[in-house]
Amino acid sequence: MTRKARGRGFKSLRAHMMFGFPLWYGDFRKGDWEGRFRTAKEMGFDYIELSIDYPMTRLMDPIRIAKVKELLESTGLKLAMHFSWVQYLADPRPEIHEGSLKYVERCMEIARQFGPLYFVFHMYGQPGTERFQEVHDDIVRTAIDNAGKISSMGDMSSIPALIENEPRVRIGTINEIGLILEKNPGLRLCYDIGHHLRNNWELQQRGREKDASRIADWFSRFGSRLMTVHINDSVLMEGGIPRDHLPFRDGVIARQLPEICKMIKRSSCEHITLEVFYSDPNRQAPVSDEEVKASLDTVKKAIG
Ligand SMILES: [Zn+2]
Repeated sequence: MTRKARGRGFKSLRAHMMFGFPLWYGDFRKGDWEGRFRTAKEMGFDYIELSIDYPMTRLMDPIRIAKVKELLESTGLKLAMHFSWVQYLADPRPEIHEGSLKYVERCMEIARQFGPLYFVFHMYGQPGTERFQEVHDDIVRTAIDNAGKISSMGDMSSIPALIENEPRVRIGTINEIGLILEKNPGLRLCYDIGHHLRNNWELQQRGREKDASRIADWFSRFGSRLMTVHINDSVLMEGGIPRDHLPFRDGVIARQLPEICKMIKRSSCEHITLEVFYSDPNRQAPVSDEEVKASLDTVKKAIG
């Protein structure tokens, strides 16, 4: 889906929904990295969402960049990028967030070599005093400013910048993400449904139920800013704590999948990345290719 095609109406967007397969350093170090591109293609994915968290930023030298381009060319897969997911872009201390911004610039240098479908970034900051409202407000203000800087970096390279909602209590609530999007009109959203459910649970633990939200609230509020959904199943453990990144079986997201897919189709979402990483909620075993393929088929069927 090119940028031009946006706004042609949701019907055309539906026909072009793309499905993404995440790859990260953990796959790289197993040794058969190239094989993962071919496996993704065989399973029926359309793009790779490549995480370039450290040390991938260091490993992406010109030879490896050329190799990845060759793999994309030979498989016909597209590329999206997931920037470092642990950084401190919303930390109000300039000494800390300026270093994180420099790291984003480094990630952008790599992204520009590919011209990906989009890049997604996380942001948080956690001074020890964050429980106090005025410090929390500083975190949100910093997030707004730095999300604007990152969005401009994306604009300058014609790569859409997407903010992803955090699973924890900072920069994960609907109102925090809402403020950041409102103040930065060029920024788009990557909505991670499992993170949202985890965020709701954290809010409840802190007696902040009033800040919790429903899945439908995110679609009605950000439907036109949504570009990508990160999807996987989530199960409730003892005490109601959600564990996500699971294959679709009968967890809380699997049970609502038909309704969720209807909302995705009515939104401006163009990509669905299947972030299925563990076979069991205790995270003892990695997911198998069969489980990933079965989950992809389940989501594709629900999208229709
Ligand atoms: Zn995610």
